Amino acid sequence: TKQENVRNFSIIAHIDHGKSTLADRILEKTKALTQREMKEQFLDAMDLERERGITIKLNAVQLNYKHKNEEEYLFHLIDTPGHVDFTYEVSRSLAACEGAVLVVDAAQGIEAQTLANVYLALDNELELIPVINKIDLPNADSDRVAQELEDVIGIDKDDVILASAKDDIGVDEIMERIVSDVPAPSGEPDKPLKALIFDSVYDPYRGVITYICIKEGSVKVGDKIKLMANGKEFEVNEIGVFRPNPVPKQGLSVGDVGFLTASIKNVGDTRVGDTITLSNSPAENPLPGYKRLNPMVFCGLFPVDSNQYNDLREALERLELNDSSLQYEAESSQALGFGFRCGFLGLLHMEIIQERIEREFNIDLITTAPSVIYEVEKTDGDIMEVDNPSTMPDSQLVNEVREPFVEATIMVPNEYVGPVMEIAQKKRGQFVDMKYLDEVRVNIVYHIPLSEIVYAFFDQLKSKTKGYASFDYELIGYRPSNLVKMDILLNGDTIDALSFIVHRDFAYERGKHIVDKLKDLIPKQQFEVPVQAAIGNKIIARSTIKAMKKNVLSKCYGGDISRKRKLLEKQKEGKKRMKMVGSVEVPQEAFMSVLEMN
Ligand code: GDP
Ligand code: MG
Repeated sequence: TKQENVRNFSIIAHIDHGKSTLADRILEKTKALTQREMKEQFLDAMDLERERGITIKLNAVQLNYKHKNEEEYLFHLIDTPGHVDFTYEVSRSLAACEGAVLVVDAAQGIEAQTLANVYLALDNELELIPVINKIDLPNADSDRVAQELEDVIGIDKDDVILASAKDDIGVDEIMERIVSDVPAPSGEPDKPLKALIFDSVYDPYRGVITYICIKEGSVKVGDKIKLMANGKEFEVNEIGVFRPNPVPKQGLSVGDVGFLTASIKNVGDTRVGDTITLSNSPAENPLPGYKRLNPMVFCGLFPVDSNQYNDLREALERLELNDSSLQYEAESSQALGFGFRCGFLGLLHMEIIQERIEREFNIDLITTAPSVIYEVEKTDGDIMEVDNPSTMPDSQLVNEVREPFVEATIMVPNEYVGPVMEIAQKKRGQFVDMKYLDEVRVNIVYHIPLSEIVYAFFDQLKSKTKGYASFDYELIGYRPSNLVKMDILLNGDTIDALSFIVHRDFAYERGKHIVDKLKDLIPKQQFEVPVQAAIGNKIIARSTIKAMKKNVLSKCYGGDISRKRKLLEKQKEGKKRMKMVGSVEVPQEAFMSVLEMN
């Protein structure tokens, strides 16, 4: 196919607005999939993704499209992840495209991630093809949504395609518009190679499979390539495209989207956003937009059974092969023993990794409350980064603590503005702006400390707005805050894994709340256990876990042995997520409780 007949595009949408359904429909119409393959939504491959209804790994499919003017076109449909934790990956996969189909639900209208995705598309100078999907729904309101697209995004409402991916309405028009509106890739085939990496996955047999889009020049099997970010060189073993199954090719040229392998052992070498060039005739400059992603959220992962420490390390090593944004280092806690301090892009990323460790590697974990990175300026002028509350220096040694803030965008029907503001205020949010999207829906902007939204923020938002709120956030930088470390003592001992950082104004309230909560969460022991919250040496709150009255086994004293065994089994089951901390048995929930405030 001629370069002028190539179209590289993505579909962007808020979650559940119909991106995958539309992608499936396009795959079906271009006969990329057999009926059997259609049974499964192809673009959402992993189990976990399917269960959560999100796409974590990017994908690219090559499709042949025959226009009604008999001209043949080559489409590359590039999938993007749908969650705010993966914004950078979304932006890099959009950088592989010249256009994006913007899908908006006819009943829901514009949501927070619709806007976030539109901004990323506009940053990458993409042509937008606006689509209102699900017009078959009885509560579809296409006129209102089209007006919203015009008012909020500046799209001419007459350009909007009305569609139902489910009932195959408007899909042919979408494909025609991809041909007429999305420009062909503009690079030159004779220039030095510039291939954009927009994803990479580890394969145990072939090494890293790098997903690339050729922006300039060409590459073929046997070429010696260079990764421009780290200068490492490799020889290309394999090149191919996904149709959607991998099909080998001898080479790729400008506009092509596909994959290559080159015996690369570590996904960390092939970072998303980096540029691949040829060793012999390298490009002068890499493609713009590369940045190294740093984790934003940290927590401790400890095996419930300390014999599984090595298994946990192996699990992390294996996961890291495929996930260059996962970070970990060994950590030892007085309370929890040996484990790892892990860094994640965001909360969802953290949950996914925890779940995979438990499911795929069969390791029960105790996880400590997630924390952000604090910048601490000490009185001696030193600046340190603290990602573990227990390592926060004593307040006499601290000049200033700075914490990361985000700009949060929350969209809700106007009747919920009150509850949203109440939550944001409680989370130390600073009001920035409020605008009406249409007669009923409002866009509210706050600046909020990242630490306040890393846990349960979105859940609270959802529950206080009957599920109507949509939410997106972006890091805006560090700001000084009056923060202190709070320690929790059980039976007089400071439990390092329970320490957390809190704003001084909220310290008393939180301390009180937590000691009460822990009193309920920690089962009664053989003896009375005081629970205390302290700032420095000062105890600010206290509760007491009463001693257990009776030994549970005494109930079946003299009873038959099998019943006794069952009781013991049951106790053991209940203990699964317990950890002996000094002389006290502490359940998993306790470690998260420091973040729960309603
Ligand atoms: P994604 O999260 O954007 O990928 O959304 P999906 O494609 O997974 O769709 C979310 C839900 O909306 C699924 O239950 C789909 O069956 C449904 N859906 C998608 N397109 C349509 C449509 O045109 N009409 C109706 N009624 N439902 C649709
Ligand atoms: Mg989907």
